[in-house]
Amino acid sequence: MIRIAIQTKGRLNEQSVSLLRDAGINIEENKRKFLTKAGGFPLEVLYLRDDDIPQSVAMGAADIGIVGMNEVAEKGFDVEIVKKLGFGGCRISLAVPKTERYESVEYFNGKRIATSYPNILSRFFEERGVKAEIHNIAGSVEIAPAAGIADAIFDIVSSGGTLVSNGLVEVERVFESEAVLIANKELSAEKRELLETLLFRIEAVLVSSGKKYLLMNLPEEAIKEAIEILPAMRSPTLMPLAQPGWYSLHSVVEERELWDKVDRLKKIGAEGILVLSVDKLIV
Ligand code: ATP
Ligand code: MG
Repeated sequence: MIRIAIQTKGRLNEQSVSLLRDAGINIEENKRKFLTKAGGFPLEVLYLRDDDIPQSVAMGAADIGIVGMNEVAEKGFDVEIVKKLGFGGCRISLAVPKTERYESVEYFNGKRIATSYPNILSRFFEERGVKAEIHNIAGSVEIAPAAGIADAIFDIVSSGGTLVSNGLVEVERVFESEAVLIANKELSAEKRELLETLLFRIEAVLVSSGKKYLLMNLPEEAIKEAIEILPAMRSPTLMPLAQPGWYSLHSVVEERELWDKVDRLKKIGAEGILVLSVDKLIV
C-alpha cells in the first residue's frame, strides 16, 4: 500500500484526481474523507491543503504527493522530485506600480515587498545582491501597494489580469512552476516498486495527451510522400485493402499538427480519413 497526498480543493485538485483516474485508479469523490482507499491500485489518498503536502511527504505522513513546484521550493523540505506533470503552470514574479520607472533589479534595494513566498524571494535577492524588506503576507498580496503597506509585490502570475486591475506591472519573472509528483526519500522497497508502477502508468497518460490516432485509405503511389508527412514511432502502419492498389495507413500525430497534416494528406490522395483520440500510449 502506498499513500498519496493531493490538494483537497483548489487549482490542482481536479487535475490530480483525473490524472490518477486516467492511470486506472478509482477515487470516490462524493464520499470524500480526509483519507480514502482507492480502487484498482493499492493506494490511499490523503487530502491536504497544498501548503502541507511537501512536509507530509518529507515526514512520511504520505509517501508521495502532487503539489506545485512553487510550494516545494518555498517550504524547503527534502523530498524527491519524481516527475513534472505538465499542469498547474504558473510563475512567481516581481511587480511594481505601473507609474514607477523600472530599469533593473537594483530598484528593489531598500524597498518593501509583500509576498507569500518569502524564501524563494530572499534566495533570489541574495543571488542578485539586493537588500530589500520582505513582508510575508498570507492573503491578497496584490492590493498591498495600493494600501500603502508595500512598494512592490512578489506573487503568482498566470495571465497577468490581476496585476493590471491593481495598477501593477510585472518586471521580473523569478520562478517557473508546474505541478510535480514528489516522493519521500526513504521509501521501503515495496513502496518504491508501487511508485514505479504508478509512474509507468502516469507516463503513459502524459505521453498520450495531445496526441491523435489517424487512419486513412491511400493509393499506392502516395505512400512514399505520406510516410514523409507522418513519421511515427517506427514508421506508419501500412495494410493492403481488398481493392488492389489501395492501402490503409495508420499513425499517431500531435494534435497541434493534425490539420496541417490532414490537408497535406488529402492533397496527395488520402480518403476516408478517421481521427481517433489516444487514451494511453505505452512507449
Ligand atoms: P490551499 O487551500 O490548498 O492552500 P491555495 O489557495 O494555496 O490552496 P490554489 O490557489 O488552489 O492554492 O493553487 C494551488 C497551486 O496551483 C499553486 O500553488 C500553484 O502551484 C498552482 N497555480 C497555477 N496557476 C495558478 C494561479 N493563477 N494562481 C495561483 N496558483 C496557481
Ligand atoms: Mg495553499
